[in-house]
Amino acid sequence: MIHERKLKSIPRGIGMTSQGTRDRLVQRLRNHGIEDERVLKAIAQIPRHEFVDEALSSRAYEDTALPIGLGQTISQPWVVAKMTEAILDGGSPQKVLEVGTGSGYQAAILASLVGSVFTVERIEELLKLARRRFHKLGLHHVYTRYADGHLGWPSQAPFDGIIVTAAATGIPPELIEQLRVGGVLVAPVERGGMQRLLKIRRTEEGCEEEDLGGVIFVPMLSGLT
Ligand code: SAH
Repeated sequence: MIHERKLKSIPRGIGMTSQGTRDRLVQRLRNHGIEDERVLKAIAQIPRHEFVDEALSSRAYEDTALPIGLGQTISQPWVVAKMTEAILDGGSPQKVLEVGTGSGYQAAILASLVGSVFTVERIEELLKLARRRFHKLGLHHVYTRYADGHLGWPSQAPFDGIIVTAAATGIPPELIEQLRVGGVLVAPVERGGMQRLLKIRRTEEGCEEEDLGGVIFVPMLSGLT
């Protein structure tokens, strides 16, 4: 059963943040290979302009990454859609972990599709802003943690899905350990001077890996700031 969440008072927006502008983004994602209708519906519903600075809101529905301060970015909508599609994997995961809350947009998209979202961020200032956005949108089933995401969220494991939104040289073994057998982890990983988006399924025997293509993410760093 997929969770159809009701969002609290979604600002419909005007002009460049209107529903029409959002629908055009959805059409673009559809044209670029995003097939899961549930993901497209979530992108149409969640107001991305609420996750960027007001000065950038007119660009919120372009298919591009945007700065969110402190050297970080909100991911490109196509990448968010691709990662969400990979995590859903045609099924209905209930419990998902995200490493790298950033603006909170990816977590909000997940929250409209899965039972509960656990998201970890190492920059306190960004996490505070993201929490405010979850509250404003009534996303009470997004649980946040100020911590180094390399360690995951052990007390909440196992997760049906794990999404990493910062690029590392390898997948931290702690994250694989916190994924249930049959679950999917999706993460950008540095390989040969490039970043590849990997979809990893945990099996009884180990892991199966699928390369979803080249991406550009900010690096995964250690410690807290
Ligand atoms: N998912 C975010 C994308 C944010 S960019 C969004 O939808 O906006 C990646 C984020 O990962 C940044 O906020 C960065 O601070 C965070 N990050 C990097 N290394 C991390 C780590 N070890 N633990 C937790 N968060 C980390």
